[in-house]
Amino acid sequence: MPIWNPQIETLPRKELKELQLRKLKKTVQYTYENVKFYRDKLDAMKIKPDDIKTLEDIRRLPYTVKDDLRENFPYQLFATPMKDVVRIHASSGTTGKPTVVGYSRGDLEMWAEAIARLASAGGVTADDIAQISFGYGLFTGGFGLHYGLERIGAAIIPVSSGNTERQIKIMQDFSPTVLICTPSYALHILDYIKEMGISPEKDLKLKYGLFGAEPWSESIRAELERGFNFEATDNYGLSEIIGPGVSGECLEKNGMHINEDFFFVEVIDPETGEWVKEGETGELVITPLGKETLPLFRYRTRDLSHIDESPCACGRTTARIMKIRGRTDDMLIVRGVNIFPSQIEEVLLKIEGVAPHYQIVVDRKNNIDTLEVWVEANEIVFSDEMKKLVALEKLIIDRLYVQLGIKVEVKLVEPKTIERSQGKAKRVIDKRKI
Ligand code: ADP
Ligand code: ZN
Repeated sequence: MPIWNPQIETLPRKELKELQLRKLKKTVQYTYENVKFYRDKLDAMKIKPDDIKTLEDIRRLPYTVKDDLRENFPYQLFATPMKDVVRIHASSGTTGKPTVVGYSRGDLEMWAEAIARLASAGGVTADDIAQISFGYGLFTGGFGLHYGLERIGAAIIPVSSGNTERQIKIMQDFSPTVLICTPSYALHILDYIKEMGISPEKDLKLKYGLFGAEPWSESIRAELERGFNFEATDNYGLSEIIGPGVSGECLEKNGMHINEDFFFVEVIDPETGEWVKEGETGELVITPLGKETLPLFRYRTRDLSHIDESPCACGRTTARIMKIRGRTDDMLIVRGVNIFPSQIEEVLLKIEGVAPHYQIVVDRKNNIDTLEVWVEANEIVFSDEMKKLVALEKLIIDRLYVQLGIKVEVKLVEPKTIERSQGKAKRVIDKRKI
């Protein structure tokens, strides 16, 4: 598979780091001059842009958190005048009030370049026809992928999300070779395809799936690849930083190559704020390099993962973000035990007879936390005898106990009863917070 921008994507790491340092210095100077919020902060900390002499010095800069964007709502962190802002998006608000982000022409150029790289890494070329089933709108997914794919020269079908039957009709009529959406929406489309008796192998032309915007496990990848008969890669990003495009997998599927000339990524211990040891898991902290409208220092993503700098068989030298394990803020504390929804998913999807649709309900009854997992059994199991269902339920409870160390309640529900998502899936309902 060709590398979109070999000059950058295969640069020796030493040179890549030199490039990052040059861009970091410029970014700090530019941001200090153009954003009052940061100028005040650095002044208060008695730091001058010139104090950043090495990449390690980035640690002298203050962190930025989501609340900083909210408090400066909507445009106060913008470093360019409105005449230079050409696009506005907002985060989907998975956690709380949305945040507003802006792009200059240069930012859109950079974004398209970042997406072109990851889409090429995921197999897309100018010969492809891409069905973009991410929402087009304030959410960054649709437009973000759109312009990157256009840069490659792929033919884009901008369907946006929703109306699943129409999505499938388009798949049959327009023969897309690439599907782009959230992994949970892809699963939903797959359910429909099966129901309609369509054979992806015979009736469709799909070769690649580019998925992102939410966490998904290797089991879901396997399910999608088998179901659609294509290769599925993961890509990651967030609107505060750019949208999708921070990083994306190549077809080796062993971590998402970071566009390191555009983004400097640190991994910190979320408790202490210190860098973790190389290769250890922690919270990703991202500083865009050279962004014009919304430059941020050390944005705390709350996403947990680790970084692998070792060479990749694809030839790219850029470091890779390994699968996102979840967010620091979706960690559930149930009876004092820390639980990530991804741990529950991992257990469920290894059990035969269970569909990849579940919901986690946390509540507090008589002052005790309760954790209920609702899982869909597949058609075959559900049409079976009662005692098989009971046995399956018990198996899930036992496996979850081994994984989590606490007893959870499991409720097997009929196929297609758990709400499907056309964008990001909502897997956890924490009634303690309502
Ligand atoms: P919101 O915070 O409102 O969801 P965004 O739409 O910008 O805003 O979503 C960004 C978040 O989505 C990331 O911080 C991360 O938690 C999640 N995300 C995006 N891509 C991936 C991915 N490939 N794997 C796991 N999580 C992802
Ligand atoms: Zn690679």
